[in-house]
Amino acid sequence: MRDVIVIGAGGGGPVVAKELAARGLDVLLLEAGPRHANPRREWTHYENDANNPLTGFFRFGPADRTKPAWFRETNQNSFLWQLSGVGGTTQHYYGNYPRAYPGVFQGYAGADRGAYDTEHVFPFTYKEMVPYFEWVEHTAPVQTAAMGTKEEIYFRGCETLGIPVQTTKDAKGFAYRPQENAILQPGGNAGRTSDRELLVYPKATGCTFCGFCFQGCMQPVNAPRNQFAKRSTDNSYVPMALTAEVWAKAGRPITLITDAFVNQVHYEEKHGTPTATGVTWRDTNTGELHREDATVVVMSAGCTENPRLWLNSELPNPNDWVGRGYTDHFFDWVLGTFDEYTGNSKGVGSSARCDFPGHGGLENVGLPPALEAFTLALSDSGVRGAYANGRGKTGNWDGPTGRPLGKELLDIMSHGIDRLLNVLVITDDDVEAQNRVVRSALPADRNGPVAKVEFHGRQRSARTLANREFMARKAAELLKGAGAKKIYRIDWAPLILHVQSSMRMGTSENNSVLDANGEARWVKRLFIADNSALSNGLGGPNPTLSNQALSTRTAEKIFRLYFGGDPWVGKEAPVVSTDHRISVRLGQLGL
Ligand SMILES: Cc1cc2nc3c(=O)[nH]c(=O)nc-3n(C[C@H](O)[C@H](O)[C@H](O)COP(=O)(O)OP(=O)(O)OC[C@H]3O[C@@H](n4cnc5c(N)ncnc54)[C@H](O)[C@@H]3O)c2cc1C
Ligand code: SF4
Repeated sequence: MRDVIVIGAGGGGPVVAKELAARGLDVLLLEAGPRHANPRREWTHYENDANNPLTGFFRFGPADRTKPAWFRETNQNSFLWQLSGVGGTTQHYYGNYPRAYPGVFQGYAGADRGAYDTEHVFPFTYKEMVPYFEWVEHTAPVQTAAMGTKEEIYFRGCETLGIPVQTTKDAKGFAYRPQENAILQPGGNAGRTSDRELLVYPKATGCTFCGFCFQGCMQPVNAPRNQFAKRSTDNSYVPMALTAEVWAKAGRPITLITDAFVNQVHYEEKHGTPTATGVTWRDTNTGELHREDATVVVMSAGCTENPRLWLNSELPNPNDWVGRGYTDHFFDWVLGTFDEYTGNSKGVGSSARCDFPGHGGLENVGLPPALEAFTLALSDSGVRGAYANGRGKTGNWDGPTGRPLGKELLDIMSHGIDRLLNVLVITDDDVEAQNRVVRSALPADRNGPVAKVEFHGRQRSARTLANREFMARKAAELLKGAGAKKIYRIDWAPLILHVQSSMRMGTSENNSVLDANGEARWVKRLFIADNSALSNGLGGPNPTLSNQALSTRTAEKIFRLYFGGDPWVGKEAPVVSTDHRISVRLGQLGL
């Protein structure tokens, strides 16, 4: 019998595991995918080897890459980009950590308060969230992004938009700024040389500007795992959770079991109330089933798999909101070609952004060649100019929206990967009940019926569609101001990587799964801590900081409600994940 079982070691689960391990609880962390314990041996920088969703080492599938990836049904034009393994989808992420916009919290009284999804706000105030943002920002740590040529050109475009530079972490109006990101600033020789001898730890620390964030960070060479530049949870929270006894006074290291796919959450009626009691998980190598019981169960399997696990476990769902309200920041992609060198494929992927509270945001995103070509091919408008079926909108970009093909694609790519600048449109989208995860009627896999994601690009609220158009036009304006020769808008189909709120925490029991503590409304001792617990799309900011801040708060609620302890955020000082004691202990443990 454990104190706490956490399901999923992605962006959110390790936060709860680390916080409760620091308080001395017996925590079991179960992860369906592998642990990449030795990335320099297990990973490469080759794009297909890393990113192929069927066979890459970064995929949603088991450790053994000769076995198929795990299937999810999507019956519309869309692409699900979520990973399994320790670190989950943060193995891919770019480490951008903006705070949510204040307007998406209860009690917001700004002049633009009507501009947000007021039906689906957080059930507490922004002021209450700030200490949790600060706790995570210190732990990661979050710093002002290191920047290069592509950011310089992006800022040149920003200067023509008539908006100021933002100088605080809180977004209070339209503005542009360097990213706040969870990537360690370059130190020593990092970023100053390409001589490999000099890019070895400790001659180099922090980001070496290798440009392979998408392929997972294993830089600088020879650095302890908790000193790798990108603060994905495999490099930050998980190392902390595994070494809690050396950096926390009452700390007790967690038990981490990987290749462990949870396929059932158990519950019993206790005093007339459904109450979680434990889980069954399957060893993905041997197929053996294991049962573990606990005082509290925390689901952190992500926005798509939490609803699947809930429904397969036949847990109560009286208001039918499990899996609903799946939001994705209805992304779009606008890019420009330049005659000058942009450094598109170099350095940290994305170090500059604009915020447009009430509408969404924009950020630059640099990519290696195969991923760049992929981004040009995912469109809801089909091939540029080839359709007249209501697609192919025009605007302040060149020609109709859609994917370039043939000679045009060849021209764009052969113009040079480092003469392109990409702007990612991040829409402030409404929580909508019809966007949802259900159980697929297709044949089940070994863990039960798989998830089916119902999520059309075009069936969005009028506010969401208007926000996306507003942001796409701003992106084109930015590129024009930066001096782009030609501007393309792709009209992306849903590319699901900022997915949020499918098990949302809400103010009303009519349209939410979780109460204001992060506990399931209909099953006691069952909590959810990851992107799916978020109340909405945050107004546009990237979700991981908010996920981790909320997960920290949920850990406190668990500790107070079921283990008789006091909260700690705002009273104690957080320990930074690069702390020397953690590095030394990881070395002793061979981790
Ligand atoms: C290319 C890319 C770039 C991104 N960049 C950013 C960025 O810059 N900033 C930002 O904030 N966000 C970014 N994101 C999004 C970010 O990665 C996610 O917000 C974050 O990882 C979500 O955390 P999560 O815990 O909800 O889910 P995940 O990280 O997906 O974790 C879920 C985990 O649960 C495991 N799991 C699933 N089912 C089970 C089961 N039944 N049993 C056991 N384990 C299970 C999975 O294997 C996975 O490890 C990016 C994403 C991508 C793809
Ligand atoms: S660019 Fe920096 S953060 Fe990204 S993978 Fe390379 S060293 Fe890591």
